[in-house]
Amino acid sequence: MENCIFCKIVRGEIPSKKVYEDDEILAFHDIQPVAPVHFLVIPKLHISSLFEVEPGHQAVLGKCLAVAGKLAREQGAADGFRTIINTGRVGRQEVYHVHIHIIGGPQTLPPMIVWRGQ
Ligand code: 5GP
Ligand code: ZN
Repeated sequence: MENCIFCKIVRGEIPSKKVYEDDEILAFHDIQPVAPVHFLVIPKLHISSLFEVEPGHQAVLGKCLAVAGKLAREQGAADGFRTIINTGRVGRQEVYHVHIHIIGGPQTLPPMIVWRGQ
């Protein structure tokens, strides 16, 4: 995907602070961290969102989740962290290349979601 920011990061066309990389997945620090630990885990394969996931993507998406705990611990979130995948307009997804946010740090995070609708 030519103009996808995260595909550009995968190809090395945009620099990133890498946390982990192998042939199928990449983890890198979020450019605007919301907590002391905030990095993203992505498949190198371009998948726009969870809406576009196909059966053939199961293994690589599983791999993204499978590395989360180890990487979070290594990055300083040893007492816990939150994983978030924003999807589509309602989910306020900004970058349309599937990514898992790993958010944590020494302090307890705020409550999950505060519903402000009616
Ligand atoms: P979303 O809202 O799509 O779930 O999250 C997109 C995330 O990507 C945001 O937290 C944003 O800070 C991060 N981001 C956007 N552009 C870049 C970039 O060029 N480099 C890095 N490292 N993170 C980015
Ligand atoms: Zn992409």
